[in-house]
Amino acid sequence: MFSERLKKLKPYKTETTPAKVRLSSNELPYDLPEDLKVKIAERLKKVNLSLYPDPEAGELREAIGEFWGIDPKNIVLGNGSDELIYYLSIIVGEFSEGVYIPVPTFPMYEIGSRVFGRPVYTVPLGKNFDIDLPESLKVISSEKVSLAFFSYPNNPTGNLFSREAIEKIRNQGVVVVVDEAYYSYSGETFLEDSLKRSDTVVLRTLSKIGLAGLRVGVLIATEEVVREINKVRLPFNVTLPSQVIACTVLREGKEFIASCVEKVIRERERLFKELSGFEGLEVFPSRANFVLIRSKEIDLYRELLKEGILVRDMSHLPLLEGCVRVTVGKPEENDMFLEALSKVLKCHA
Ligand SMILES: *Cc1c(COP(=O)(O)O)cnc(C)c1O
Repeated sequence: MFSERLKKLKPYKTETTPAKVRLSSNELPYDLPEDLKVKIAERLKKVNLSLYPDPEAGELREAIGEFWGIDPKNIVLGNGSDELIYYLSIIVGEFSEGVYIPVPTFPMYEIGSRVFGRPVYTVPLGKNFDIDLPESLKVISSEKVSLAFFSYPNNPTGNLFSREAIEKIRNQGVVVVVDEAYYSYSGETFLEDSLKRSDTVVLRTLSKIGLAGLRVGVLIATEEVVREINKVRLPFNVTLPSQVIACTVLREGKEFIASCVEKVIRERERLFKELSGFEGLEVFPSRANFVLIRSKEIDLYRELLKEGILVRDMSHLPLLEGCVRVTVGKPEENDMFLEALSKVLKCHA
């Protein structure tokens, strides 16, 4: 009765274990300030929920355009960027054509490809978790690959791939999707390319800058790509409350978001420095709002959980033996994490 394609797929798993300090989902550690919440409540009160939302989310596309300096005609919104990943897998090439994914990375690229029966070619990352270009080009030239996904910076390793490697893969006639979910923390972008050439698509999201609860993903591309996405996009895919709230926050909470991002970056650098001094621990530099660490001796995930700190276990992934990903939290949360880690490492020294 069920599709062969889905036999080996598993539901996307997220970390729901209860804990005192949660550093597992790369959310912003700050909720909106009270005065902004009051403004949101006032706007929501005026909304007639018996009506469908604007199917094009015109006002929100404008607000996002202002926020990042992009023309709204180059923007399509999704119910999170996860939805947009599905759409890209539908519109680029045929389902019989392959999708290239450097791994380990964000699992939705593979799920979003396999759901439609597309062949997936994963290539393990090379030195410093950068793209293994010779291996990647070998696969791309021997298989029919039409689409590639790059998490930029990469979740969960935290680094930015070499721009040149992405461009060389694009030169093979592959449409490259550059997922800039952590753009606010890296400052690096393929935006200019995505506005000029239809073989380059940028994804961003409001999820990592304080609005994960709204589910608003952003696709930035040429008008040609936007047209194709709109053919397959579900109508009304961004809810009316999400449109109203996101508009309010992006227009009136710009300084708040900027100051939160700044704090998180400062804390990321502090964490990196402090973690680098821990014996028996490897820490990887990050351009995102999380840090990847490795211990060869102890089960970091379980030992930290015993201390009330929840992080994301990555130790089952290729190349990431002994690794956990730690979201940068508030300064006091990071202190609790550092203290717990210090205890855990000393206990096993
Ligand atoms: C968190 C994350 C997203 C965000 O997805 P949403 O569906 O917009 O919440 C997208 N890509 C990567 C690489 C991420 O880490």
